[in-house]
Amino acid sequence: MMDNVFFAHPEHVSANRLELVDQEATHASKVLRFKAGDELYASDGKGNVYKAQVSSISKKSVFANILETHSETEPTNKKVLVFGAIKKRDRLEFAVEKAVELGAWEICIFNADHSERSRINEDRMQSIVLSAFKQSKRRWLPEVTYQSSLDEVLEYYTNYHTIMAHVEADAHHPESLSHDKNLLLVGPEGGFSEREVELAKKKNTQMISLGKNRLRAETAALAMLSQFLFTT
Ligand code: SAM
Repeated sequence: MMDNVFFAHPEHVSANRLELVDQEATHASKVLRFKAGDELYASDGKGNVYKAQVSSISKKSVFANILETHSETEPTNKKVLVFGAIKKRDRLEFAVEKAVELGAWEICIFNADHSERSRINEDRMQSIVLSAFKQSKRRWLPEVTYQSSLDEVLEYYTNYHTIMAHVEADAHHPESLSHDKNLLLVGPEGGFSEREVELAKKKNTQMISLGKNRLRAETAALAMLSQFLFTT
């Protein structure tokens, strides 16, 4: 019954009413053909899922009265996936979509020393995140952030335990995360530069191997997250 959970932006949720807009409203009205009186579920991406009854509906807006609220507390353990911008758009988007499914709390894309410059369509990225968030039934919507260098990443995410997937690291068996806030770093197609590796080492970064095979950047990002699936 909770198969179809819509997204209601927190700004569009009040004590007893919520509104779906944009593609969520179109989907409810045109594709699923909801009508006034029907019940729906909506998540605000901040841990709350609402059961609500449609009071008015059009292609652009759906108002619904909240009947029940189910809340999931914010996890204490967080995994932020940080990866160097991947030039090929489909591979970059694949990595982001799968990172949401695999439980990244936040996803940070940065211009690595060896990243090839390419334009990222942030709106398109947001819609990929939203649809993966709904599909995987997550309750907290991951944010995507963009940074212009690894230096900025490390400054932005201070107080995080940093783990770098490095092709030259010694083989390692997966361990559980021992800190609450974790920054998981993966390089772009061209790998991390010496400068970036040194910078990370200065910040007490844990270097890990993802096995003996050299993985493509997007595979490495997903392998990295998959090491820690049971820490939410
Ligand atoms: N020629 C690059 C190099 O030697 O660093 C290869 C880069 S690899 C395609 C992209 C990124 O994936 C790397 O920077 C690293 O973060 C990660 N990666 C790929 N395979 C890995 C492995 N076996 N162990 C650890 N990290 C790996």
